[in-house]
Amino acid sequence: MTNLPMELRNQLDKAGLSIGCLTVVEREAAPDGTVKYLFGLDDGSTVESVYLPDDDRHTVCFSTQVGCPMGCLFCATGQNGLTRNLTTGEIIDQILRISKFQGVTLTNLVAMGQGEPLLNYDALIKAIRIINDPKGLSMGARRITISTCGIIPGVLKLTEEQLQVNLAISLHAADDDLRNRLMPVNKKYPIVPLLKACQEYIERTGRRVTFEYTLIDGINDRPQDAANLIRLLRGMLCHVNLIPFNPVPGSPFRRSTPSQIHWFAAELNRAHIETTIRKERGTTLTAACGQLQGKFRGE
Ligand code: SAH
Ligand code: SF4
Repeated sequence: MTNLPMELRNQLDKAGLSIGCLTVVEREAAPDGTVKYLFGLDDGSTVESVYLPDDDRHTVCFSTQVGCPMGCLFCATGQNGLTRNLTTGEIIDQILRISKFQGVTLTNLVAMGQGEPLLNYDALIKAIRIINDPKGLSMGARRITISTCGIIPGVLKLTEEQLQVNLAISLHAADDDLRNRLMPVNKKYPIVPLLKACQEYIERTGRRVTFEYTLIDGINDRPQDAANLIRLLRGMLCHVNLIPFNPVPGSPFRRSTPSQIHWFAAELNRAHIETTIRKERGTTLTAACGQLQGKFRGE
């Protein structure tokens, strides 16, 4: 923004609001219209974002951190730790760049790229408020989804914002032993207090919470896992989104079979827990979060 006075540019920089700071390092399109972007940042690091068209929906999945400190066992992003938080400007710029490149008005945004959104809370909320603002992107909070591995203080803080965003919780296991192993965050924020925080979010905002559950063969797709999940979620205003596991290079985990995935969904639906299976998008792009970056580095 060289046309702005230097003093104003410095002030915007300090507030983490400099826009136009990302460069497109790589862009890869799949036959279904999904496009993955690898963006370069000022300091030489990179993040990825994904454009997902679906009939008249135009969604961008954006990142909130370079890397992620949470170390979930099944996640490519989690393997190399955190480099840094993104600024508000870097969050918004992913969205603006993709909208411009694709030549579309975006209808939905999901914070499901790299990083743990609730660990970059202030920059994220500031970005959402700008996105909401009629003078900003003028997009309603109900069209924005924040996905978290379950940072309880962040969920409680979000409840206070009264923002009407969609909250998605990456649950992936229905008992603490298994969740401790898959997601180290569970040792600090175990399942029962996490669900209590979700219940509070539901009561205070009137919004349904989504639980994401990535199905890994023989690990969390067994009959006892379905039974435990039903026991935990029965009666809650929620929706379960089953995600077929995306293989991560070097990981011993395998994706559950299609019949196991359908069986798991049917069990939950039979218990009146509304469950869907995530539609696979852009699979030729190695769709798991963090994998474009891995590929770009030649790993
Ligand atoms: N850090 C946030 C948001 C980014 S990850 C979170 O964990 O919620 C977006 C979703 O993809 C999360 O539900 C995450 O658990 C899931 N995910 C990560 N690695 C995956 C993989 N290899 N296969 C399928 N889903 C994966
Ligand atoms: Fe981080 Fe989410 Fe990956 Fe876990 S699943 S390591 S919280 S990006």
